[in-house]
Amino acid sequence: MKIVDVRTHLLEHRLETAFESASMRFDKRLHLLVEIECDNGITGWGECLGPALPNAAIVGIYKQWLIGQDPLQTEKVWATLYNALRDQGQRGLTITAISGIDVALWDIKGKHFGVPVSILLGGRFRETVRAYATGSFKRDGVDRLADNAADVARYRAEGFHATKIKIGFGVEEDLRVIQAVREVAGENMRLMIDANHGYDAMEAVELGRRAVEYGIDWFEEPVAPEQLGAYRAVRAGQPIPIAAGETWHTRWGMREPIETRCVDIVQPDICGCGGFTEARRIADLAALHGVRLIPHVWGTAVQIAAALQFMGAMVPNPVRTAPLDPILEFDRTDNPFRQAVVTTPLEHQRGVVAIPAGPGLGIEINRDALKEFAPKAG
Ligand SMILES: [Mg+2]
Repeated sequence: MKIVDVRTHLLEHRLETAFESASMRFDKRLHLLVEIECDNGITGWGECLGPALPNAAIVGIYKQWLIGQDPLQTEKVWATLYNALRDQGQRGLTITAISGIDVALWDIKGKHFGVPVSILLGGRFRETVRAYATGSFKRDGVDRLADNAADVARYRAEGFHATKIKIGFGVEEDLRVIQAVREVAGENMRLMIDANHGYDAMEAVELGRRAVEYGIDWFEEPVAPEQLGAYRAVRAGQPIPIAAGETWHTRWGMREPIETRCVDIVQPDICGCGGFTEARRIADLAALHGVRLIPHVWGTAVQIAAALQFMGAMVPNPVRTAPLDPILEFDRTDNPFRQAVVTTPLEHQRGVVAIPAGPGLGIEINRDALKEFAPKAG
């Protein structure tokens, strides 16, 4: 089997109401799928986390080293692509682009052998995962406190056991939002906070010390991802467990945060950290050091499927009678193509999502949706 073509598909939707995290503004959704076609007709799909246009350009550059390659030799292909741009491309978009390609190659491998990627990765430890609702951004033109509280009330009514809200807009305002959200969430719903690196270390320590009374499971990206010393200071200076990793790439990028315990929970994105090939190494590194791993997810059903396959194969750590299972990040913000790109949506039932059992990623792409959400000229 040989690779004969590599194509990218941009998906775009202009939002009626723009929203913001502490570090990014969204007035549209723009995501990138990768399609790899083989000479025997098998086609694999991947997705790249992050800015879609630069990712598409870099996937286009990698294409020259992919045509004619055997897609089953995923380690060999990964090493070839990484080494091609290694000297100036050890992290960032060079890796998010490789990630989309690597996910597509594992999809091909699974289809070739007729098994889901989770089986290729070593086996399915679970058939379902509990999802947590990600939402509660700062939306234009609405009262953030009331809007976030209404979001969380809805997630609770839908059956989600946990939710993550966005902070990083200022310590006092954030604390008012956290308090309001905890009131509607009730005592039992798990609550996480994500600052999208909107604080400095002193603010993050203050926020963490004062927010702990509201029962917070983890405090995500308190400070800028490059500031590993600040991570250690925040983790040492306040009581809430620290999570991060959606912008850390490859085993080399994850090594110092894990080894020096910048975080309690590391969050590689399968479509950003280097694909399945690299994510399994990161999982080994995390297990070696006793750091919990919960994948980051921010994409379409292709990316959700990749995360589900990976999570299906995550070895319980520790092994015990009542295992500590990973939970799935489930984006609830406005994105009409998120599930439309697949023929069978990966939806939740009362906050629980099934891990697809079909070959590869276990999804089928709806090509009509790719056309419908392709960017329109002008
Ligand atoms: Mg995050």
